[in-house]
Amino acid sequence: MNPSNRSARRSFLRGAGALAAGFWADEALEALPQNTNTNSKPSDLKITDMRIATVVKPGPGPCPIIRIDTNQGIYGLGEVRDGASKTYALFLKSRLLGQNPCNVDRLFRRIKQFGNHSRQGGGVCGVEMALWDLAGKAYNVPVYQMLGGKFRDKIRIYADTTESPDPKIFGQRLKARMEQGFTWLKMDLGVDMVAKVPGALTRPAGAGLTYGDPVQHMFTGMEITEKGAALLDDYVAAVREQVGMDVPLSADHFGHIGVNSCIRLGKALEKHNLAWLEDMIPWQYTDLLKKINDAIDLPILTGEDIYLKEDFINLCRAHAVDIIQPDLATSGGILETKKIGDAAQELGVPMAMHFAGTPVSCMANVHCAAATENFLVMENHSADVPWWSDLVNGVEKPIINKGFITVPDGPGLGVTLNEEVVKQHLSPQDNGYFEPTTQWNTERSVDRWWS
Ligand SMILES: [Mg+2]
Repeated sequence: MNPSNRSARRSFLRGAGALAAGFWADEALEALPQNTNTNSKPSDLKITDMRIATVVKPGPGPCPIIRIDTNQGIYGLGEVRDGASKTYALFLKSRLLGQNPCNVDRLFRRIKQFGNHSRQGGGVCGVEMALWDLAGKAYNVPVYQMLGGKFRDKIRIYADTTESPDPKIFGQRLKARMEQGFTWLKMDLGVDMVAKVPGALTRPAGAGLTYGDPVQHMFTGMEITEKGAALLDDYVAAVREQVGMDVPLSADHFGHIGVNSCIRLGKALEKHNLAWLEDMIPWQYTDLLKKINDAIDLPILTGEDIYLKEDFINLCRAHAVDIIQPDLATSGGILETKKIGDAAQELGVPMAMHFAGTPVSCMANVHCAAATENFLVMENHSADVPWWSDLVNGVEKPIINKGFITVPDGPGLGVTLNEEVVKQHLSPQDNGYFEPTTQWNTERSVDRWWS
């Protein structure tokens, strides 16, 4: 803390006759641990405002950054999930004003009914991050410490890498990642890569090819042929030739093929020892995922769209997946994601972490990853964005260093915003840099789920 603030607070307390008013005595202040932030009296901390600055970056977005202000001058930062509406956070504001942000779990339970799967979880999770940041700043401890401490000092990262139809070119890009220090790789391996080859794909005319198609996998009528599976097998073989067999290599975005095709393709890829096959079908179909998982000797993974721990536990209990991959900005925030990891660990399932936001949300992930024993590896979509690290201050730069992120020791999430850089990347559609949001102060409804 800033020593001048500490003495300023003491003189304020003396001047105000603070003892009689129930404030702490000087003696009590002296007894506080040296690290306690006496700028803030945590038990009297109250939320006074919530504002948004929406950042646009290459890749998934936009990313609405939340700032929750208090009556004691400290603020918390959080982030709505990439691509989600800032409204998902703002409509929680009236439920938070006047509350003590240090009661993180209590406030989370109050607002969690307003979250849902995928982007709809983004508001609740962004607020939860900001509450932890505030609690950490109020007590002057890093978030990982409030979660029970660290299992590791550095967080292993995998970086998404630009695709190429030529496996040699793509393999070279992955090799460059390894030279940058990355120790876990990932590739997209969609049926769109072979769609133009006659006889590689059986599909009704007009069926969408990419993961963006709104028709779910089982309902497209699209199936990969032996020939198509062999072509993707050849592609992975050529990539493996470049990067070797020793480094974990995950695969995603297969396209909306049916369950039998998932199995056909998965079996063809077994020899390449892929680290996981991601989201082969939507996460909601536990029995079908289990069918795929039982048929293929490669790890199956899902989770980036799941809100709250219950559905993760269901998947793990059924052993429908080998690995879960929550996105902390959807899954329920920092504490809920630790709970998800801990529950999965008891069922023998490791936890990777999906992530595509700014360094604010990144650090929320880093604290959770540090404090969750069965953590495996965390995603990053911005390894090639030169200004991504510059959005914040207070942590080691570059944030991703030789394939790892150092867990920060500063209070809360450990980052402050670099106002100048954030202002250079604001969304032109949104309302500027933490502009007033008073229109959300009085939004009300009877929110109780029971009577
Ligand atoms: Mg994915």
